[in-house]
Amino acid sequence: MHLQNIVFTVLFLAALSLFTYNLLRIRTYLMIGRKDNRFSGAGRRLLKVLGIGIGQSKILRDPAAGLMHAVIFWGFMVLITAVLEAFIQGFYSSFSLAMLGKVSAVFFVSQDIFGTLVVLAVFYALYRRLIVKPKRLQGDGSTNSDAVFILMLILGVMITMFGVNAMKPIVHPENAVFYKAHFIASQITPLFSGSVILLFNIFWWCHIIIILTFMNYLPYSKHFHIVTSLPNVYLSKLGPQTLDTEEINFENENVFLGAGDIEQLTWKEMFDGYACTECGRCTSVCPANLTGKPLSPRKIIMDIRERVTEKAPLVAGKKEIPAEIGRRKLVSEYYITDEELWACTSCMACVQECPVNIEHVNSIVDMRRFLVQSESRFPAELLTVFGNMENNGAPWAFPQSDRLKWTEGLDFSVPVASGKQEFDVLYWVGCSGSFDARYQNVSRSVAGLLNKAGVNYAVLGTEEKCNGDSARRLGNEFLAQTMIKENVETMKKYKFSKILVSCPHCLQTIGNEYKEFGGDYEVVHHSEFINNLISENKIEIDESKKIDKKITYHDSCYLGRYNDIYEEPRDLLKEINNGELTEMKHSKDRGLCCGAGGGRMWMEEKIGKKVNIERTEEALSVEPDIISTACPFCMTMLTDGVKEKGRSEEVKVKDLAELVLESSK
Ligand code: SF4
Ligand code: SF4
Repeated sequence: MHLQNIVFTVLFLAALSLFTYNLLRIRTYLMIGRKDNRFSGAGRRLLKVLGIGIGQSKILRDPAAGLMHAVIFWGFMVLITAVLEAFIQGFYSSFSLAMLGKVSAVFFVSQDIFGTLVVLAVFYALYRRLIVKPKRLQGDGSTNSDAVFILMLILGVMITMFGVNAMKPIVHPENAVFYKAHFIASQITPLFSGSVILLFNIFWWCHIIIILTFMNYLPYSKHFHIVTSLPNVYLSKLGPQTLDTEEINFENENVFLGAGDIEQLTWKEMFDGYACTECGRCTSVCPANLTGKPLSPRKIIMDIRERVTEKAPLVAGKKEIPAEIGRRKLVSEYYITDEELWACTSCMACVQECPVNIEHVNSIVDMRRFLVQSESRFPAELLTVFGNMENNGAPWAFPQSDRLKWTEGLDFSVPVASGKQEFDVLYWVGCSGSFDARYQNVSRSVAGLLNKAGVNYAVLGTEEKCNGDSARRLGNEFLAQTMIKENVETMKKYKFSKILVSCPHCLQTIGNEYKEFGGDYEVVHHSEFINNLISENKIEIDESKKIDKKITYHDSCYLGRYNDIYEEPRDLLKEINNGELTEMKHSKDRGLCCGAGGGRMWMEEKIGKKVNIERTEEALSVEPDIISTACPFCMTMLTDGVKEKGRSEEVKVKDLAELVLESSK
């Protein structure tokens, strides 16, 4: 073994030990968080890593910046062969991939191509950071210096790799025939013909030292995501976006009452902080941020990481927490304020956009739970809403006995479950469908269609209670669970095969979140259900009654991003409007929230521009006759928006069910 090999081995082992120490250090920090099982379903998780991680599918939603990032990522994957070759040479100087014979050309050509692409991408990244300065890369304490340093290290790795590759034919002439495959690096080979060995060694050592420095700088840098992003994608939620899946048992005296500081977050919520790239994609699509509220989902995640860095070493090391650090709780004026948390509409746009699948909404709701359940600190208007839910099983002050008022005046009778016991479809009317004067017409329309189609259905009537979504998203988990459990008990009394809902919040909660409370149901939204009735010819569209107007469709976040239902409402609208539908600028999974989700429906909006006005203006900008919706909250927000813009006379806000009933035979 030569001196060079010995020095390399010592350096390599030291760097590897330091890196391992840092990984273990961060692991001990995560261990102070709550449990969260993110390991089941390995196959599905690996598929996500393939699509989102290796395929960079979410990064590429932003074409220019996405391509730049993807090139650097893919380049690094390909260039691992060059790094491996250099590291093995550290132990055995004579090693070369050329030993693989002609196959080595594949590696050498790809190293030159991807090395060049990575250099170009790095220059483009520097240009964006230092000259263009896109808004989403600024603010929230996000700094350029760390990013620029990392980009320079990447450039250093590339330059030294090209230097080493350029001199290989001179240092190892026995392999020169294979090194011709370095068709770019070989162009600069003649430059080094004089002091070849010395230069080769300088490039090789610089290459090694930059990589080892890079590796050990990462755990202290925001670019630690280079290590954590693929694991974070692997560990992200499978299936529909539900809240924390663990059932919080209020009979247990140590029940979790919310996250006021890092110890009450789950380990995964803390890990999200280490995976954040600070790209700002989440904040750039956040409706609260866009309308001037003090909420930036990126800042939420960065604050979690900051607080973990500040406090976790003390907690993990069982050290006394200095008063100064103890006072600076995660939910406080030092990090995340109440106003930030209450501004969230739980629209999931941030989660949808995040290239490393960070789950902001989980953490936000965990912190809201702390505000409501531990601190009793929430906007005053919610006191009435919680009181109504507790006393009347609905956010409004209407009594349960009024739940069937929407059926009054119908020229057919609506069957009630208590009088039937067994039926095919349970039509879950929901609180808006029962009590909201405007939305009652949607319930009447759905019932009208069910009646026309001869569906064997029933409603729960006075036995139905609020599904619990608003209470859950507002952090009142105790109240939510009380209503959820009562609803599950009620439904146990009847035999039916599926539940039909008009409200996407009912769809999400009953369909995806009741399971952990013993209610495992097939739940369908009326957009899907009515589509099926049409395709089975149980509902027929009358050619003479087709709408023939300019219709635009507003995607409900809970129907779209939460439940992936984008096409069914559009199919219905095209069916009744001669195939015509006008899309807004933000639609489908890029749709802009109406402002009512996450319990914001029940809160005053005092800061910034109103979210519903922002969305209404976008809808009005396509000059529609009808803005169609498929959600009671969206209907309220857009109806108010159109009214506030003074356009109620000429622009109508209508639900899909109303439009189909109007057009049906
Ligand atoms: S869920 Fe919507 S409102 Fe809440 S932080 Fe994310 S993007 Fe913003
Ligand atoms: S949370 Fe995701 S989208 Fe937001 S800044 Fe971090 S990596 Fe980017």
